[in-house]
Amino acid sequence: MISKYTGIAPKGDLILLQRLGEIFRDKSFLHVNSTRAGGGVAEILQRMIPILQDLGINARWEVIEGDERFFDITKKIHNALQGNHETITEEMWRHHYEVNRRNAEKLDLEADAVLIHDPQPAPLIEFKPQGGEADRVPWLWRCHIDVSNPLQEVCDYLRRYCEKYDAAVFSVSKFARAMSIDEFIIPPSIDPLSEKNRDLTEEEIRQTLERYDIPADRSIILQVSRFDRFKDPIGVIKAYRMVKKYNDCILILAGSPASDDPEGEIVLNEVREYASNDPDVHILLLPPFSDRDINALQRSATVVLQKSIKEGFGLTVSEAMWKGKPVIGGATGGIPLQIVHGFTGFLVHTPEGAAFRIRQFLNNPHMVEKMGQRSKEYIRTNFLITRQIRDYLSVWYAIKNNGKSVYEL
Ligand code: UDP
Repeated sequence: MISKYTGIAPKGDLILLQRLGEIFRDKSFLHVNSTRAGGGVAEILQRMIPILQDLGINARWEVIEGDERFFDITKKIHNALQGNHETITEEMWRHHYEVNRRNAEKLDLEADAVLIHDPQPAPLIEFKPQGGEADRVPWLWRCHIDVSNPLQEVCDYLRRYCEKYDAAVFSVSKFARAMSIDEFIIPPSIDPLSEKNRDLTEEEIRQTLERYDIPADRSIILQVSRFDRFKDPIGVIKAYRMVKKYNDCILILAGSPASDDPEGEIVLNEVREYASNDPDVHILLLPPFSDRDINALQRSATVVLQKSIKEGFGLTVSEAMWKGKPVIGGATGGIPLQIVHGFTGFLVHTPEGAAFRIRQFLNNPHMVEKMGQRSKEYIRTNFLITRQIRDYLSVWYAIKNNGKSVYEL
């Protein structure tokens, strides 16, 4: 399987992966998150687990279960970590802990290395198997969200759990907090061979457009995102309206629900209302696992937007760039890692800024093509899944010595 990436991913990454695979052959590597579908974390895990297995590593992916209340609480925690004012009471934190305790009873947490994703399952560290070999198993906490400016008390509470891990992994260096444990920066990545990113035929693209009743002969502005206020779908519609006064175009907002995001429906209704039956605004509610359709939509777009106000990383940016699309993205979180302003796309702060850049692209097809080509190469070098697996295994290698910092060895 890894050989399939030859000629696609950087050769150096493949050599390192092979070597790390030999080192960790038959070792078990457990990942735990809170949803199997929807959002970037599930997207990456779906692709990463089989590749790890192909390298000879016994990789497993477990998902914690929770009631509605649990996901309401964890969404609030998520929003607070991204800077919103939310109140998380002691009682809510207890429920968060309690749900994790129940999950720990059911889940098999024995492994040679454990990577826990995001705040939802963070309390699992309290139930780390103890004694003998288990004491030497590195437990890593992986934070995918934009914690550059969090609500302090929520951050402090969560830190009680996080600092019990052997190390923390963040996507962007400015998210790293001053913590008592080692911290690593590992940006997320996309799989160029997945159904979402593989090359498509013209016919496959046409079929998707036809299915969603989208005209193929007009300029398409696209944003693919969960319906979440941090993704600023309303700002996207505002930008589109400004553009529309001068350029003919249609707007597609494509999203699907994530089982750990209870706010999606409310935001979707707000967006529908704001779009107010404009026949050129296509709000597509895609079923989970609509990978090929998303691929086709991204390939059919003239300009792709990711106008987030807060963004852990924004896989959708890399996905579109890999397809040779220049992306206009909010200058926030992980987006500036991917968009080199004026070279692979544009960073914006307002709907006005987005509208200005959309028009610049619509009026300059040559610029679209040139920036699109650079975008693809930029993703190849920096944001393919082979690089991310290389990084995870390198961290495991670095801290496997009794969970001690390499500096203390
Ligand atoms: N996605 C999807 N269906 C949708 C909307 C998004 O499959 O309707 C995918 C998208 O292609 C990307 C991931 O979900 O792979 C979203 O990751 P991102 O990092 O952009 O945002 P998150 O949802 O994790 O905040």
